[in-house]
Amino acid sequence: MNIAFAGNPNVGKTAIINAIAGSKLKVGNWPGVTVEKKEAEFEYNGKKITLTDLPGVYSLSPYTIEEKITRDFILEEKPDCIINVVDSTNLERNLYLTLLLMETEQPIVLSLNMFDEFKKAGYKIDIEKFSDMLGIKVIPTSAIKKEGIDELIDSALECSESKNHKVLSYKLRYEGIIEQEIESIVKKLQELDVEIDYPLRWVAIKLLEKDEYAIQKIKEKTGKDLSAIAEENIMRLEERFNDDTETILTEARYGIINGILQKVFKKPQKINMTLTEKLDKIFVNRILGIPIFLTFMYFVFKFTFDGSGPFIDWVDGFINGYIAKYVSMGITWAPDWLQSLIIDGILGGVGLVLTFVPLMFFLYFFLSLLEESGYMARAAFVMDRVMNSLGLNGKAFIPMILGFGCNVPAIYATRALEKESDRKLTAVMVPFMSCGARLPIYALFTAVFFATHKAIVVLSLYVLGIIIAFAVGLILRKTEQFKSDKTPLLLELPPYRLPSLHMLWVSIWSRTKAFIMKAGTVIALTMVLLWGMINLPPHSTPETSILGRSAKIITPIFQPLGFDKWQVVATIIPGMIAKETVVGALGQTLNVQEEESESENTTFLQDTKDQIVGFGVAIVDSFKSMFGNLSQGTFELESVGDDYKKKVHDMMTPLSAYSFMVFMLLFIPCIATLGAIKHEFGWGLMFFEVALLMVVPYIVSAIVYQGGLLLGFH
Ligand code: GDP
Ligand code: MG
Repeated sequence: MNIAFAGNPNVGKTAIINAIAGSKLKVGNWPGVTVEKKEAEFEYNGKKITLTDLPGVYSLSPYTIEEKITRDFILEEKPDCIINVVDSTNLERNLYLTLLLMETEQPIVLSLNMFDEFKKAGYKIDIEKFSDMLGIKVIPTSAIKKEGIDELIDSALECSESKNHKVLSYKLRYEGIIEQEIESIVKKLQELDVEIDYPLRWVAIKLLEKDEYAIQKIKEKTGKDLSAIAEENIMRLEERFNDDTETILTEARYGIINGILQKVFKKPQKINMTLTEKLDKIFVNRILGIPIFLTFMYFVFKFTFDGSGPFIDWVDGFINGYIAKYVSMGITWAPDWLQSLIIDGILGGVGLVLTFVPLMFFLYFFLSLLEESGYMARAAFVMDRVMNSLGLNGKAFIPMILGFGCNVPAIYATRALEKESDRKLTAVMVPFMSCGARLPIYALFTAVFFATHKAIVVLSLYVLGIIIAFAVGLILRKTEQFKSDKTPLLLELPPYRLPSLHMLWVSIWSRTKAFIMKAGTVIALTMVLLWGMINLPPHSTPETSILGRSAKIITPIFQPLGFDKWQVVATIIPGMIAKETVVGALGQTLNVQEEESESENTTFLQDTKDQIVGFGVAIVDSFKSMFGNLSQGTFELESVGDDYKKKVHDMMTPLSAYSFMVFMLLFIPCIATLGAIKHEFGWGLMFFEVALLMVVPYIVSAIVYQGGLLLGFH
């Protein structure tokens, strides 16, 4: 027994499934495409029921992957019942999909969700009459308050029995002339004896709409090309209404909806603006919108960096001090190289990944807060005009913002875009967004060369990344592969909501976990590999190691960019796999003397207690640095000592250091990002991206360096 949930995005489909089956949702992908497939199984009165969470869609025209999936599932899999979840506070728009679903003549139950808000807003609806006019069962529900859920399942089970009756004759019909044409096409189909497992009336409507996808499918199934059947009917209607049949039918559906709503639905006399309306007067204001958005972003990043700092230090101390101490005590029996591999390679690598977890956690916390509260949709709306210059719509901006945290989830976030060409273009632009892992590199070089202008130098890099992303986007948009018409921003602005802690947690944890899994394996492996490259062949110095020798071969290439020392060039190799490793790798090629921390004779118990106390202190420090000084954001690299700074200083000039930072900003961010691109778009786009992320940084850094020389910098 299979119940499918269909509805617009953000109406509460997932919330209802969770209310029914607990959080047993299994997440995978729909076959062949990278859209999430979510299913939950549960038992009800001894029956095993599968709940399928279909992708959120506004219509069933096959223009987007989501629409295709939903439509194919309903027509081919024929679930026993479709629960159409609608946002009862936005009926007019939501019912459009309902009518389309009814045209497929499958058993449907309507879930009038968000009924709590519906009541709160003072709306009224005559449910019985509504249900009668539609011809389907209507259940008011609130997923949040778990109201109406049992009734919904019971109705779904009941309605699934009607599946056995061959035809579901819903009462809704189009206005006279249109319905006549539909009937005339149905007759022709009957005369032609078309044997197909789609309802004939639905086929007729699709023919009338000139739906290529349906025509193609029918051809595959029956071998008959029906494209010409409705020609006459289409002509008659188009002449009569002086419009395209697709538009005529769309408008006719809204006509039906308005007719029904007028009879059953009442809005209260407007006295006060709702809170949402008041807030939107400010947040999506033409003039204030963008400054407010930028201010929010500033605080997201400020809070993320300041708030996570103390935890990053704590994790660093926990792994490299506490854990490393006891691991090395446990492996004193092993040969030196093995100890070094375990401590510096494996533990160092895992530790490095884990130090990024607080950063990710904080970033996702604030971004999820903006998402769940409903603000992110406004941000997309506000940025729409800016993104339009690229022929993209506002939604494309969200993956780019996420890219500032980590490029990997940002690549996956392009799924929110409707068109494949838009998704590809956005994915190509994302790696130019300066992710958190690039920050330690800036921190090192600004500390050495730009100590008095740290913030402005780092800011200039972030901005440069955005500018290059847009420039590349503009150029690519002109090419065949990325060409596309603008997709209008079809975005419903949901009412502002206080985010529920549970939803926040789910969203933060699933993303953080994905980061640990993906980045964790890759970065930890890189560290082991890097350890090998610096320590092999046996008894080599950094200079004679594999890394040193290969770096020396490619070093001359970088002369025009200003950094032609093999020690610096060598870091590009591990940097390609993970930017997190660059500062550590440079320390090794420069042969930096570690500042010996005197190891005290402490007991295990004492050390453990210190770690716990340290964590408490980190919590306090985190709040202090987030709210202590609002004007100034700082970041320091504690692990970089004076010897390190001096060696970097001798190696480069301010200009060559800046050129190097630009190169690192625009170069391949990490192998996990490439993996995500391969996963989402295939090898072709991945190799294109690799080439782009080598050529662009080379050119831009060369311009920066040579231009700087001409202007008299050094
Ligand atoms: P989906 O995109 O259709 O799966 O929607 P979700 O299940 O993700 O829900 C979207 C948002 O609406 C979430 O923030 C939910 O907490 C919220 N939500 C879902 N159902 C209800 C409801 O009945 N009442 C209220 N007030 N909020 C709801
Ligand atoms: Mg959902």
